[in-house]
Amino acid sequence: MRIAIGQISHETNTMFGPPTPVTEFERQNWSVGQEIIEKNTGVRGYLGGMIAAGTDNNIEIVPTFAARAHPSGTIERAAFDTMLANLQDAIEAASPSGNPVDAVCLSLHGAGTAEGINDIEGTILAAVREQIGPDMPLIATLDLHCHTTDLMLESATALLTVHEYPHVDSYERGYEAVELAAKTIRGEVSPVMAKAVLPMATSPITSFHGPAREINELCWSWEERGLLDITFIHGYPHTDVPVISTSVIAVADGDQELAQEAANDVAARVWAMREQFRSSLPDATEAVAQALAFEGAPVVIAEVSDNPGGGSPGDSTHLLRALLDAAPEGAAFGFVYDPETAAQAHEAGPGATIDVRIGGKTDPEMMGAPIEASAYVKCCTDGRYITQSSMGQGSQQDLGKMARLVVNGVDVIVGSESQQTIDDELFRLHGIDVSRLKIIALKSQNHFRAYFEPLAATVIRADSPGWTTSNVQNFNYQNINRPIWPLDEGVEWQP
Ligand SMILES: [Zn+2]
Repeated sequence: MRIAIGQISHETNTMFGPPTPVTEFERQNWSVGQEIIEKNTGVRGYLGGMIAAGTDNNIEIVPTFAARAHPSGTIERAAFDTMLANLQDAIEAASPSGNPVDAVCLSLHGAGTAEGINDIEGTILAAVREQIGPDMPLIATLDLHCHTTDLMLESATALLTVHEYPHVDSYERGYEAVELAAKTIRGEVSPVMAKAVLPMATSPITSFHGPAREINELCWSWEERGLLDITFIHGYPHTDVPVISTSVIAVADGDQELAQEAANDVAARVWAMREQFRSSLPDATEAVAQALAFEGAPVVIAEVSDNPGGGSPGDSTHLLRALLDAAPEGAAFGFVYDPETAAQAHEAGPGATIDVRIGGKTDPEMMGAPIEASAYVKCCTDGRYITQSSMGQGSQQDLGKMARLVVNGVDVIVGSESQQTIDDELFRLHGIDVSRLKIIALKSQNHFRAYFEPLAATVIRADSPGWTTSNVQNFNYQNINRPIWPLDEGVEWQP
């Protein structure tokens, strides 16, 4: 048995930033053929899971094309066209005459938008379906911050979305995709899908506890009743395309009615509980005050409103300013995106004291002005380390020139790539033992929880003005379908 695997993955924040060119994908994650196997074997991600399922089940995995970039602005149309053409050409080449593949498994995000195409995943799946014909299994994995469109469901045999946020189960979803494809090829199952789409713009919320956990448990009780998969999809509100929603996709074995009944049941529970999904978080100053008043340590403060993992630039100065104003002992901020200051620190070298303007360069009006300060350069690094969080464990990170500065007695790490912080590797890289800190400040929405929750005395999420604020009412949406909760009054929904 031969199964082709591939990836085109991008979470697009259409509200912020310039269009994303193909060069960003090429620079970040761009693999052709065998490179996909080399880069992803043993990595806890979607492709790593697909490769492992192939090895474990004696299936030949045929790598095609993979491109992925950090969340950012709308994908340039030419970039999307190039990536789709590369994927389709590689899928074609994977089936030389007399030795065709038996299925295609793709790792997609689900919230990708290109110029002129609101739904890139539906477009990709429809194009591949057209290419491989109506009968070959086509299974895609998705991020739970995805949109759910008719075109996606019509084109795929099955869509398998991560259940957890932090996404600690992307490897498992990739693994399942290949296993489900194999079972489908052998005629052991025949997947059918149903969806229920809610008019909800849900703020990012973890599935580890709280209302999203309760919904996941309801999903799993449905899976125990024989569904192949059912997932509560939180959706992605940090963009402005019509299809924003919160939804449920159920995959059943041949029983369309059961799939629809399950999707409706879970969606109805989400809808009934929607007030529990409303966000109310402290601002940066209040978050620092709460952290200092808390007795235990370390306290993690996550600046959710400037999460590079959701398309925000990562150089907001709201939380950093509040921390430097309070100037507590034993505090470190890891990290602020600021290639200029990182280069300046590398130029001056460890031991130097330099005048800096930290952060606030991308969008000072929204994200706060640069912080002008005198900074001691403690150390400089190459920004390279390997992820240890259970989310993406084993993947190589390269944040470019980084430096640990000391400002007002607070350790402030600056880096040259915009990225959220999901484990303590970048603190270690700069000689900081987070277990000894009072306050660990970082930029991430919820993914940091997978690694930091077990070691933190408590977690505080700080919400300031920013492109990934949890307060979705602050956005001036122009294009989303209305009415939608919680932006509009009296929104109604029936299964
Ligand atoms: Zn996500």
